[in-house]
Amino acid sequence: MIPFIYVALPTRVIFGRGRISEAAAEAKRLGMKRPLIITTRQQEDSGQRIAASTGGFAFAGAAMHTPVNVTEDAMAVLKAERCDGTIALGGGSSTGLGKAIALRTDLPQLVIPTSYAGSEMTNILGETQGGAKTTKRDAKIQPETVIYDPDLLETLPDRFAATSGMNAIAHAVEGLYAVDGNPIISLMAEEGIRALASALPEGKAGHDEALYGAWLCGTVLGSAAMALHHKLCHVLGGTFDLPHAETHTVILPHATAYNAPGSPEAMARIVRAIGSVSAAGGLYDLAKRLNAPLTLKELGMPESGLDKAADIAAVNPYSNPTPVERNAIRNLLDDAFHGRRPQN
Ligand code: NAD
Repeated sequence: MIPFIYVALPTRVIFGRGRISEAAAEAKRLGMKRPLIITTRQQEDSGQRIAASTGGFAFAGAAMHTPVNVTEDAMAVLKAERCDGTIALGGGSSTGLGKAIALRTDLPQLVIPTSYAGSEMTNILGETQGGAKTTKRDAKIQPETVIYDPDLLETLPDRFAATSGMNAIAHAVEGLYAVDGNPIISLMAEEGIRALASALPEGKAGHDEALYGAWLCGTVLGSAAMALHHKLCHVLGGTFDLPHAETHTVILPHATAYNAPGSPEAMARIVRAIGSVSAAGGLYDLAKRLNAPLTLKELGMPESGLDKAADIAAVNPYSNPTPVERNAIRNLLDDAFHGRRPQN
């Protein structure tokens, strides 16, 4: 066995249907007397209900990719209302704003995820300012407690459930060949992919299993270095403003095909987890079965931007199981643009 280092994440996890009812007690346990409740505008009603039950104040301005000007608005409200912690309810956008506040204040965070994004299990924060997205890692960013309540997925639209689930699977796929991977992370990654691949096609009946899988995949994201797939999605999201979960869904089969020659053990685990003949083809077929988008074209990517995306993705070297070569990445992006099924 290859040598490894394993560090367990410090986040306390509470899982189960109905457990959102424990939010007030958990906030109190973390020392919050007046939490700031963070949601997007779409989930404002849920935020108001938590504010009522915790004695907190609701801020419903969270937005994708954590714009710094929104964080500054939320910080002003936090100070004016004398809030002493945050409760973020929602997908990665709400979680991101809670993390941005924690980075600036080191106040405690309770996160209640309602998508499969996985951000709640990481110490990573991506912020946008002036059209550029920068990523930071800091122990202050890691949430203290996460409550996973599958009841909250009832309102998740089918298409977003599919793409958010594929986004989670992407964390696990890259964890399987991560340069700093280890046997525990590989176990979590394979089990996370298995849970999501079997639960997502079940729709509402699969919510418990899918959220369990998303937790495992988020843990992998928080514990292992990501590679080509996440780099490409970061470039496409940051430079071309493509939607986060959809972009992960379209790129994943192609990034997996690219990395297959350099990571046979990871591919074998993916095949076993989804019960397919090949890893990349199996991921493509899963997305198709879920009626998820399969082409960058349908996400609004301009074909004229593929060269620029390949240039940016190849410019700063990073660890990847198959060498990162600009022209090979350009071909990958072409396959993703047209949605061709990978052959391996
Ligand atoms: P999102 O949080 O933007 O959610 C998309 C929309 O769906 C929002 O309007 C949201 O309110 C709504 N929504 C979420 N859950 C719902 C539910 N159960 N019912 C009804 N509506 C619901 O999208 P996302 O894909 O969850 O998160 C994407 C963001 O998270 C991006 O900014 C991405 O960069 C970030 N992210 C960060 C990390 C990290 O570790 N830092 C990891 C993953 C994602």
